[in-house]
Amino acid sequence: MIMSVVTTPSVLLRSFNYSETSQILRFYTLDLGLIGVMAKGVRRGSFQGRSSLNTFSRGDLTVYVKSTRDLQTFKEFNIREGGQSLGRDVLRFTAASVLAELVLTHAESEPGREIFECLTKGLKKLENVESEGVGLSLLSEGWLLVSLLGYKPQLDACVKCKDRIGTTERVQFDFEYGGIVCSNCSNNMSGSLEDCSLFEELRALLNGSRETPVRDIRSHLQLLNDFTLYHITGSKGLRSFRFFTSLMSFESRSFSNDDDPGFLTGEDIE
Ligand SMILES: [Zn+2]
Repeated sequence: MIMSVVTTPSVLLRSFNYSETSQILRFYTLDLGLIGVMAKGVRRGSFQGRSSLNTFSRGDLTVYVKSTRDLQTFKEFNIREGGQSLGRDVLRFTAASVLAELVLTHAESEPGREIFECLTKGLKKLENVESEGVGLSLLSEGWLLVSLLGYKPQLDACVKCKDRIGTTERVQFDFEYGGIVCSNCSNNMSGSLEDCSLFEELRALLNGSRETPVRDIRSHLQLLNDFTLYHITGSKGLRSFRFFTSLMSFESRSFSNDDDPGFLTGEDIE
């Protein structure tokens, strides 16, 4: 099998220590999709003149690729954005981990330009948004990613009878059908009807309006969590999402320090 050398824009999503000196790195790349890379020697002292290789670093990755193997071989990673500002803030780091976990759980090793762009834009957004806006940014970026992965929720009409839904109607969300159900059709469903405004706000988020204000961020996060649980991650759920919601409920967001958060390593999330 012929080996080729590929250089592609990439974002580092996770790293595992493999031995005293080596790491296994998982990247989402523009040209190869999701890949695993064996990087020998990267733990020895510094990484290409930097003190360490941060999760969520973006740049150009060069790898030796053989299509027959699962782990490709690292050549170099020319970092343009180091991901330090996500690493310094536990809430931002955890939100970024949710996006990473979505991609790691679901994306394939085939190129996905839209996924790559959505992911990198999302990370940039999480780096730069005000602390109060981290939850909303995770919400909008998370739903955009979920939609690109093939699971856009249906919100324009009832998923069962296809009738359009009035703005004052109370509705339910059917996870199996992946969309909202009108009050007529929800007769046999358990659970309570919800105010339509939640789904109107969600519709705006899905239309790419990243600045949509939402009235109840926790209900929205719960919906996104339940939706990914049903459609993407299975019963396992996203570990980083659970952690994010518990952080949100602390209210205080001043966890910043200059150390690596440490508690959310790749092994933890796996
Ligand atoms: Zn209906």
